[in-house]
Amino acid sequence: MAERSWSFSKAFRNIFSGPELITEDTWDELETALITADFGPDVSESILDELRAQVDRHHVTEVKELRLMLRESIEDRLAKFDPTLRLQERPAVVLVVGVNGVGKTTTIGKFARYLTTFDRKVVVGAADTFRAAAVEQLATWAERAGVDVVRPQQQGQDPASVAFQTVQRATEGGYDVAIIDTAGRLQTKGGLMDELSKVRRVIEKQAPVSEVLLVLDATTGQNGLAQAEAFIEHAGVTGLVLTKLDGSAKGGFVLSVQQKTGLPIKLIGQGEGIGDLTGFTPHVFAQQLVG
Ligand code: GDP
Repeated sequence: MAERSWSFSKAFRNIFSGPELITEDTWDELETALITADFGPDVSESILDELRAQVDRHHVTEVKELRLMLRESIEDRLAKFDPTLRLQERPAVVLVVGVNGVGKTTTIGKFARYLTTFDRKVVVGAADTFRAAAVEQLATWAERAGVDVVRPQQQGQDPASVAFQTVQRATEGGYDVAIIDTAGRLQTKGGLMDELSKVRRVIEKQAPVSEVLLVLDATTGQNGLAQAEAFIEHAGVTGLVLTKLDGSAKGGFVLSVQQKTGLPIKLIGQGEGIGDLTGFTPHVFAQQLVG
């Protein structure tokens, strides 16, 4: 696999390639780096306090040891959340929610492909019925991923009925996973939340919902979190997917988003290609983050 162009570790690169001994400047630079990388003020402060205490306690003097401690602190924080996808049901129903533009459709295409590599039989449902383009885009991704798609019979068909038909198809056709795309228009938030509740209720007449994945665009950083709140409050979100982490300098968002929402990150999107989605591994991510 080609090496990814991670740019988040840039923020830390200067510190760890600079003078070998820890000085007051090191702490200032570390604070700036944490804020720049979008760890958010709370997580940044907590990491700095923890590291300062450790440095004092163990009489650490070298920057290279500080780097290891930082990596470990990040990994421990990430590991407090369980990133395992719950897809034991058959079919496992996965609702994918989030505002338009965050990468929801792309994520569904990548996720469908990801699951087929584990020999899962997948169907996707286009329950964002209001935008004809959304249905077409999802169908294109399904084709790319080599999975089946359930489309609305006409534009504007009740999203809940498309979701119902998708789960029905999955049940009758012996599919392992049904992934359902949902609308993401933010201007009618109340209406959207009602729609999502209805989609869920209707699905649950046939099968339990195994996962509700909220897709967030990592490049929007802390602002994206405000949008997330309504979904978390009303849509029964079970996990997060962070997209556009490739080329983003905001990898610290991963920590702040978990801390603020109390939800695990289950998948990360790292590009526009069909293979650019991976599960979330705290150890690997901490390494990529700190370098
Ligand atoms: P939706 O409106 O939420 O369904 O968003 P789309 O799936 O249409 O994606 C919006 C844009 O984001 C498209 O140009 C995608 O190619 C792009 N995109 C989605 N995921 C990623 C990602 O992980 N990395 C990058 N660089 N671009 C992404």
